[in-house]
Amino acid sequence: MYFRDFYAKLSIIKYLCIKIMSDHSQVIEEYLLLLYELDRAGEKAKAVTLATRLETSPPTVHATIIRMQRDGLVKVKKSKEISLTKEGQEVAENIAYRHNLSEYFLCNTLGIPWYEVHQHAHLLEHAMTPVVVEKLAEFLNNPEFCPHGTPMPGSALPKNTISLMETEPGMMVEIAMIGEVLEDSVDLMKILHGHRIMPGNQHKVVEKTEVLRSISLESKDGPSTLPFHVAENIFVIQVLLD
Ligand SMILES: [Zn+2]
Ligand SMILES: [Zn+2]
Repeated sequence: MYFRDFYAKLSIIKYLCIKIMSDHSQVIEEYLLLLYELDRAGEKAKAVTLATRLETSPPTVHATIIRMQRDGLVKVKKSKEISLTKEGQEVAENIAYRHNLSEYFLCNTLGIPWYEVHQHAHLLEHAMTPVVVEKLAEFLNNPEFCPHGTPMPGSALPKNTISLMETEPGMMVEIAMIGEVLEDSVDLMKILHGHRIMPGNQHKVVEKTEVLRSISLESKDGPSTLPFHVAENIFVIQVLLD
């Protein structure tokens, strides 16, 4: 009887350990993905940035980063800047691949609007085994970009891609990528969708207004105005008119 109780308790503890470990790895995966995205966007990653983007408190971020540092996934510089180690980078690329692949599948196969697939993909990306990833990539014909134009790890945007903030009035541009940071807000994504500001569509830069800190565009679907902080996360390619 004693032994049966003991083993029953042991199996509950084992279950809880596995549960905690899997929850823990999902949190770590979120951190790795965000660090990867910030690095790709050329932005410095500090605990406060992670706390804002992950909607958590700086002490929680601090504790997680210490754990990740111990596991050899991240390095923390004297300036408090956090970066991925080689191992962290490899894991992060794998998650980014699963994320983009999930978005592509949800959008192009299941028909979920491009402006909301990011949120669904954030859940799906943690539940994919290597076999599922491989078969899904094969099924989707190995896409190179997510529906927002983000290149898969290993792929890149054309070299002449610039931020909308680097354009000049009068330029005709084609949208190449909506930055990952903008995908976090479905409301904002819906506004971009309403103005047809999506990869592959062309817009003319009409005006940049410093006073209002906004940039005006014009397309065949009508005019639109974007604040600077949104425009700097939209990437375009100049269309040369003859
Ligand atoms: Zn996304
Ligand atoms: Zn995306």
